Amino acid sequence: MSLKLASSMAHLGTESAFVVLARAQALAAEGRDIINLGIGQPDFATPSHIVEAGIQALKDGHHGYTPANGLPILREAVSADLNRRHGVHVDPNRVVVVPGGKPTMFFAITMFGEPGAEIMYPNPGFPIYESVIKYSCATPVPIQLDEANGFAFSAQAVLSKITDKTRLIIINSPANPTGGVTPKEEIDALVAGLQDHPHVAILSDEIYSNMLYDGRAHVSLLQYPEIADRVIMLDGWSKTYAMTGWRLGYAVWPEQLVEHAVRLCINDHSCVNAATQFAGVAALTGPQDAVTEMVAQFDARRKVIIERLNALPNVSCADAGGAFYAFPNISNTGLSSKQAQDLFLDQAGVATIAGTSFGSYGEGFVRFSYANSTANIERALDRIEKVLKDNT
Ligand code: PLP
Repeated sequence: MSLKLASSMAHLGTESAFVVLARAQALAAEGRDIINLGIGQPDFATPSHIVEAGIQALKDGHHGYTPANGLPILREAVSADLNRRHGVHVDPNRVVVVPGGKPTMFFAITMFGEPGAEIMYPNPGFPIYESVIKYSCATPVPIQLDEANGFAFSAQAVLSKITDKTRLIIINSPANPTGGVTPKEEIDALVAGLQDHPHVAILSDEIYSNMLYDGRAHVSLLQYPEIADRVIMLDGWSKTYAMTGWRLGYAVWPEQLVEHAVRLCINDHSCVNAATQFAGVAALTGPQDAVTEMVAQFDARRKVIIERLNALPNVSCADAGGAFYAFPNISNTGLSSKQAQDLFLDQAGVATIAGTSFGSYGEGFVRFSYANSTANIERALDRIEKVLKDNT
């Protein structure tokens, strides 16, 4: 190509879930019966009272720009929701509303990332972390998450990697792609250890905070006032309210970073569209039954899929305490993650995602999303069982 791009473009990665989705859709268009266990979005519709609030906002004439950080009524609703769920008091002025979960990642990483800086991130983990760290030209420092530890973060492992160049640590619990949940004791130990490293900021991706099972309670990094001046807490509506396509998320920023975050919003997207923000208010202030029902359904499917995965030949699957993913170990099948992903899609007609799409330490694993009906999960596992028996 004769156009000269910035060299940083060569470092930008991607999220393979979208590539697999396109391939699965192309196969479906050819008439193949494809069961999609690849996609990371709830298979439920957005609850109707939320949809109605968005429609009503358009009818009421909310067609213009809003404040860049979000409507005050929405930021107040977020603050009240954080009080209800996590028992914390957050000044609504620290809430910055953005189009989805991803923009906060991009802003936090590019705010701290530059050549010579180190940013730590979970591996296997959401692929956009490593992608944007590389794009920022900072040095990515992986925190390897261990299957034997239920894919939880180990405070000691994180703290041992901090150097004077570390600027930002990204943690994510409940986690994508593993479903792992980090217990409170580890988070307590991490926060205690961080007292010795006041130069380090933390991005806590809590987008799955409503999806926890077996009586687990969410631990938010907002619950630690001793690090409130350097925690960025990311959450949003995509997963909790089945609103991935609306593009609505937020972060609570430390007071000293709010101005920088809002300036990034102004440069990047001005504001989230107004009708979506009104839908977001309805989601937080309206009945929560649909969330409870959705989480109950995920839990029932989780039990089915983990049992079925563990029954496959040469496959084992750790218990997953949160989100809507299972991350079985397929290394004893003799297949690589990518080979397993391709075999499952091409021969079984089941879309899954290779563990390596979530970082090098994902080799030997495949991500299954159980955002699909129990009947489809059972059908998918029947087919995978057959192809594994035929091919390994
Ligand atoms: N964080 C994690 C851990 C995710 O898994 C996802 C989406 O899959 C996001 C953030 C991004 O969410 P959104 O679609 O709202 O940008």
